[in-house]
Amino acid sequence: MTPTAVSAYAAPAPKAPLERITIPRRELGAHDILIEIKYAGICHSDIHAVHGDWGGGGNFPIVPGHEIAGVVAAVGTEVSRHAVGDRVGVGYFVDSCRECANCRAGREHYCTGELGAVMTYNATGRDGEPTQGGYSTHLVVDENYALRIPDGIPLAAAAPLLCAGITLYSPLARWKAGPGKKVAIVGLGGLGHMGVKFAQVMGAEVTVLSQSLRKKDDGLRLGADHFYATSDPATFEELAGVFDLIINTVSADLDLAACLGLLRTDGTLVQVGAPVNPLSVPASALLAGGKSISGSAIGGLPETQRMLDFCGEHGLAADIEVIDAEQINEAYERVLASDVRYRFVIDVATI
Ligand code: NAP
Ligand code: ZN
Ligand code: ZN
Repeated sequence: MTPTAVSAYAAPAPKAPLERITIPRRELGAHDILIEIKYAGICHSDIHAVHGDWGGGGNFPIVPGHEIAGVVAAVGTEVSRHAVGDRVGVGYFVDSCRECANCRAGREHYCTGELGAVMTYNATGRDGEPTQGGYSTHLVVDENYALRIPDGIPLAAAAPLLCAGITLYSPLARWKAGPGKKVAIVGLGGLGHMGVKFAQVMGAEVTVLSQSLRKKDDGLRLGADHFYATSDPATFEELAGVFDLIINTVSADLDLAACLGLLRTDGTLVQVGAPVNPLSVPASALLAGGKSISGSAIGGLPETQRMLDFCGEHGLAADIEVIDAEQINEAYERVLASDVRYRFVIDVATI
């Protein structure tokens, strides 16, 4: 029996503190599964969304949460991929058109169909109803949009893999981070710390570029070979022309021209951070040395499953601080102050 009204935490209006509410969940369809959510990670994108940072208003009240880990509690009559009791995760999107070239290629996150990739919250689903995210006790989702979480990974530490994990795994895989490659991760937050772990396991030489040396011990423990402060101008002299690949996870404005100076000839800077302001780069910073800036968003379903399996094989997961639901607003403040080590995860039983 599907619970049609479930407890959740929502932002009632832009920038308003999150508070407990009750939200509807749809009846279980033939291809749906009901997930009893156990843990939900707090991604900086949740904060951008409820602060209205990216414009476009918003479907308030918004229940954020797209780093969802839980257990299947019921399955629809046609479900074949998951069974009751399975450990599953849901990330940034819960549906897509399933027909466009990208969907057919397993790149649902870049769906070009009319429906587009339906975000887990603050979007409108196929049924015309607003989607609501993982800061809630239950979720009903089409079985194809839920991933298997390998047995070895505790659910709490698995939750952030569904966004922070795939968002760094995907560009590291695409630009072939591995032996002989020098990779820099800018910003050691939720995304950045997963980038360090993945790049290290993939065999690259990894450098963290952080605002200060405050997180240096952590960075080295997470697998970085080197750690530099971007507040120190000497960093940009010492590391000039060094990196094959730089991944910028910073949620705020950053001097991209200075970062491009750290790339070797033909190097690429991949932007994954989603700051409020447009990026600004002088043409000369790209022309000299034939450098590229690219962007990357999360990953498709098959790649997200590959990432989870890779984590299972290599014993990887997020470094987390589990919090009660009533600490969500405080956690948001700490994320904004870059004071997170390295992902807050809500114990959904406390909602
Ligand atoms: P986070 O945990 O807050 O980490 C961001 C890190 O950026 C901070 O820990 C800090 O690292 C650095 N930083 C913050 N403010 C800064 C400033 N003013 N100047 C320089 N560095 C600063 O956030 P997150 O969850 O990792 O998300 C990071 C960004 O990626 C957000 O904008 C988010 O919306 C976006 N995002 C994008 C995708 C995608 O698919 N592309 C997916 C998820 C999130 P240090 O303390 O080391 O300096
Ligand atoms: Zn996210
Ligand atoms: Zn599509």
